[in-house]
Amino acid sequence: RARNQADLAYAFADASTDAQVREQIQLETELHRALEREEFFLVFQPQVALTDGCIVGLEALLRWNHPSRGVVPPGQFIPLLEETGLIIPAGEWIIDQACAQARTWLDTLPGQSSLRIAINLSPRQFQSNNLLEQIKNAITRYSIPPQQLELEVTESLLIEDFPGTHQLLSQLDTIGVRIALDDFGTGYSALTYLQAFPFHAMKVDRSFVSTVGGSRKSEALLKTIVQIGKSLELEVIAEGIETKAQFDFLRKHDCDLGQGFGLARPQPVGEVEALLAKSHIRTLLGDE
Ligand code: C2E
Ligand code: MG
Ligand code: MG
Ligand code: MG
Repeated sequence: RARNQADLAYAFADASTDAQVREQIQLETELHRALEREEFFLVFQPQVALTDGCIVGLEALLRWNHPSRGVVPPGQFIPLLEETGLIIPAGEWIIDQACAQARTWLDTLPGQSSLRIAINLSPRQFQSNNLLEQIKNAITRYSIPPQQLELEVTESLLIEDFPGTHQLLSQLDTIGVRIALDDFGTGYSALTYLQAFPFHAMKVDRSFVSTVGGSRKSEALLKTIVQIGKSLELEVIAEGIETKAQFDFLRKHDCDLGQGFGLARPQPVGEVEALLAKSHIRTLLGDE
């Protein structure tokens, strides 16, 4: 009996694995076509000054408009783009597209001349040999002031190929673009990275932000992370602000910028323009 049950469990496991493998292969085939069929698009999430709600920047986030599944979130296909190497051409498209959009906003929105655009880069893109060229080309083609382009990298990049990565980040720093350490605190978090690489900004991961209102220790940790960033003269951006309590806590502890559903969700170009027209997001400021 027990054996039968075990067999049954195995059979189920096999079936689901098979289905998963088939689905992966299917997705991979479709991903190959997605670029040429122009199924990718970018949404943008505001980065807001905690002091006054001013929109300082916009983070570009990739979406895939799949012909039958609808809009697929990046968690479901970016790993596959990375495994297949497709992140290289897709990444080049993202850089170009985000800079083209930035140019449009700089041209059409008065009072937004210092708006920044943030782009996420995968470690794989650093192995592509021409990442520096791609960035240089895009800022030249669209006349983007380099200090208005921010590149977000994660800690996983830093442990991989130390000399090559360090050199490339230094070259990017030299051309004047900003570099942000994304998801700070979730990876290997060797604090030495913070001073060994030319970062301009630190993005505190949502998992720390969500502890506001929880234990005294977890709040102390969040406060300390912000202080570390500030003391290294980094701009500190809190990710995933959802509540007023989180917003108030971070503001009180001198965090510079915030991003999160409580301020604004990532959204398509048209809706972002409506927000930019107002230029401030005051939802959590609670002005009297
Ligand atoms: P990330 O760079 O840390 O981006 C922030 C993610 O948190 C986004 O998810 C955003 O929608 C989500 N988020 C923002 N505010 C809140 C909040 O208040 N609450 C919660 N629960 N979530 C919030 P998204 O767009 O699904 O992207 C997930 C990850 O996929 C990104 O994390 C980034 O690592 C990667 N990704 C997205 N676009 C690109 C891209 O163009 N290139 C590369 N290489 N990676 C990308
Ligand atoms: Mg990011
Ligand atoms: Mg992040
Ligand atoms: Mg994060």
